Amino acid sequence: MSGPDPVGRLGRVWFDPAPLWELRCAAPFCSDPVLVVADDERPLRNPDRTVLADEARVAGWQQAAPGRWLCRSCHQGHDR
Ligand SMILES: [Zn+2]
Repeated sequence: MSGPDPVGRLGRVWFDPAPLWELRCAAPFCSDPVLVVADDERPLRNPDRTVLADEARVAGWQQAAPGRWLCRSCHQGHDR
């Protein structure tokens, strides 16, 4: 590949025409801060935030404030 930015200097930079949302736990020291696909380790990503909100509720996450979510272990009080 040729061009003004040699491969490896800036990494891969591009504009994603279809950005996806992912949901992260708002607790600062959360050990597992990203909502993942059920029975999987991959982050759940979707272009529609309401889909993430629905999945988060199913997974036991709780909305602490508008735009701020806590994962199941954080809103239950670090009791694991
Ligand atoms: Zn958390």
